[in-house]
Amino acid sequence: MAATAGERDVIGEATLGELESTLRGRLVRPGDPDYDQARAVWNAAHDRHPALIIRCAGTADVVRAVEFARSEGLQVAVRGGAHSIAGFSTSDGGVVIDTSPMQGIRVDPAGQRVVAEPGVTWSAFDHETQAFGLAVTGGLVSSTGIAGFTLGGGIGWLLRKCGLTCDNLVSADVVTADGQLVTASEHEHPDLFWALRGGGGNFGVVTSLEYRLHPVGPLVFAGPVFYAAADAAQVLRGWRDLTATMPDELTTLANILVAPPVPFLPEAVHGQMVIGIIGVYAGSVEDGTRAAQPLRTLAEPIADLMGPMPYTTMQSLLDPLWPAGAQNYFTGTMLRELTDDAIETLLARHAVGRAPVHELHLHHGGGAMANAPAGGTAFAHRDATYILNIIARSADREGFETHAGWARATHQAMDPWSTGGGYVNFTSESGQDKVQASYPPTSYARLVAAKDRYDPTNLFQLNQNIRPSGGR
Ligand SMILES: Cc1cc2nc3c(=O)[nH]c(=O)nc-3n(C[C@H](O)[C@H](O)[C@H](O)COP(=O)(O)OP(=O)(O)OC[C@H]3O[C@@H](n4cnc5c(N)ncnc54)[C@H](O)[C@@H]3O)c2cc1C
Repeated sequence: MAATAGERDVIGEATLGELESTLRGRLVRPGDPDYDQARAVWNAAHDRHPALIIRCAGTADVVRAVEFARSEGLQVAVRGGAHSIAGFSTSDGGVVIDTSPMQGIRVDPAGQRVVAEPGVTWSAFDHETQAFGLAVTGGLVSSTGIAGFTLGGGIGWLLRKCGLTCDNLVSADVVTADGQLVTASEHEHPDLFWALRGGGGNFGVVTSLEYRLHPVGPLVFAGPVFYAAADAAQVLRGWRDLTATMPDELTTLANILVAPPVPFLPEAVHGQMVIGIIGVYAGSVEDGTRAAQPLRTLAEPIADLMGPMPYTTMQSLLDPLWPAGAQNYFTGTMLRELTDDAIETLLARHAVGRAPVHELHLHHGGGAMANAPAGGTAFAHRDATYILNIIARSADREGFETHAGWARATHQAMDPWSTGGGYVNFTSESGQDKVQASYPPTSYARLVAAKDRYDPTNLFQLNQNIRPSGGR
């Protein structure tokens, strides 16, 4: 286990000065005026104090940062958009390799490709690619970083049409634990390329990601429709039945939530359970209007906000509900099916949740996600019909452990319908058993082989950690 600065001699001023002089970016340390801002991550449940934050301006800084952390024996956290639910992109007493200043994006409209740096968020990514009517599966909240998102898999509104985000990764530049820069693609370091697509940040620091793009928008038929609690079971059963024959262009999510006090929902339901059915049709607005119509008549809606809108509007529609700075606990599981009993269980579990925000998201899978070969990437759970994300969120720490317990108990209650698989990006949990459960045994063995080759000493262990066979 790598040391934190508190466990070893404090790093000497001369050493830090020498490091700083070799960076194009910046070193942020405790006591600096922007230290608190620089150490903050989206999930305030992880209020940590790194010894150093290396804000990398480019690949050379990343190489230097990796070499420094290795030679000083420091615990390493790697950061892109800082949205790790489990708090992996910060550390108490370690070094944060912060790639957020790396913001380059280059779109090739004719070739339908984009190359982006790891500090890019979906907001900037969509802005650049939509200028040419192109997109790739991105996050539901636009402040999320592309790097951690892609490396874990990537579930979003284009999932059924375009596949997971990682399915569209063409190549990546990676600084591995020995400080070497390698390019991973189908043709170069294919073992690393396979592992990067679902294996998370285990293998090095990604400094550039190249994606395949798809024609989408700029106008799409999209948005949410809300139903009252009294119709909850009927609506969820109706949605489930529709998912069986839904076209791949239509990706939807059913959300069991407590209605926030927003003007587009009737005041009478504020603070009450409601069901949101949210979707995006990745095709013409006319086809989308037709395909989404049955979603709007599952019962009498309390608010129907579906309609034609710019894809970028849809990509940022949920942002106001998910600001940084709250305490969040997520846990999730892959569901094989959604029987009537499963729906009743979800509704009963939601009813006993007490967190100010507690939501049960059912992402519909299938489509292009299912059509890709299961062993083609480290992300393997392509047989999941639904991906359940259980979310508990509160503004402060009070009651947080109880809320987290509710999320875990809800996860357990869904075991009868689970494939047993998990999604590494939708969990606050870590630990060997959880990580191993996220991959089939053959995939896990391939991940260990990649770890042995690219990070045999487990320098990159603040992640859903694949332990090298040396066992560190
Ligand atoms: C509000 C919110 C909405 C979300 N919505 C979705 C969603 O719609 N779909 C979905 O699939 N997931 C979603 N997620 C989960 C999201 O995919 C993960 O939290 C993901 O890790 C975020 O990436 P990041 O770069 O912002 O995170 P960071 O916290 O910066 O990084 C997370 C981890 O990724 C790795 N990593 C980051 N950058 C690099 C790099 N340059 N090189 C190597 N490893 C790196 C590291 O292991 C790091 O610990 C959401 C999360 C939040 C908080």
